[in-house]
Amino acid sequence: MNKGKLIVANWKMNFLYKNAFNFCKKILLKKKLIKNKFVICPPTTLILQLSSKFKGITFGAQDCHYEKLGAYTGDISALMLKDINCKHVIIGHSERRKYYFEDHIILKRKIESVINAGLIPIYCIGEDINIKRKDKTKNHLLSQLLNTLPKKNKNKIIIAYEPIWSIGTGNTPTVNEIEDVNLYIKKIITKINLSYEKTSILYGGSVNKHNSLVFLDNKNIDGLLIGGASLNLNTFSSILTYK
Ligand code: PEP
Repeated sequence: MNKGKLIVANWKMNFLYKNAFNFCKKILLKKKLIKNKFVICPPTTLILQLSSKFKGITFGAQDCHYEKLGAYTGDISALMLKDINCKHVIIGHSERRKYYFEDHIILKRKIESVINAGLIPIYCIGEDINIKRKDKTKNHLLSQLLNTLPKKNKNKIIIAYEPIWSIGTGNTPTVNEIEDVNLYIKKIITKINLSYEKTSILYGGSVNKHNSLVFLDNKNIDGLLIGGASLNLNTFSSILTYK
């Protein structure tokens, strides 16, 4: 029984308004069957229109700038996301780290800016295949957590464990491996700040209709961050309705 787990959809740079509207409408038609909490993170351009139309859905963003306002052409702040009814912001996704060179200093500031705006960061961490092969995953996660998480914060945060080698590849760790990592993450973040004890630790990477059931049944996996499969209405709704 997994009632109350958190499913986060990361739509990345996909869907125009019409598809997104139809998707949300169909999800809400299944509202009575939905057993898990969920957050949809569409492209930023869609958030205001969708959040105005679909009050029963919680929306998040996929990134933000670390400053509130200012001369940062093309960027959007956490404060601006709050202004369009966002509740969560994904921070540190491996694609942002890779394509935009986001490092610990930037990510720390982004996490703080999200918390200061009153929103919930969904902080993504995870190792690449070389780190995994060298058996250095936990050292890597330790550094990603120690260098970025605020020590004095009392507000809610969410962590998503997303092994980079798993994202979009069809390969995943075993459920026992994910559980082991999640317990490790929990231990580390509680040492950083006792108030992180109840933090939800999600898993992300090639989640599909089948493996999602195994992952959601594990008591130390608090939910899922889903990329590709969150664009498929049947798959996504079957994950939301799994109990
Ligand atoms: C992701 O990019 O966060 C992700 C989990 O992608 P996918 O589910 O497609 O592997």
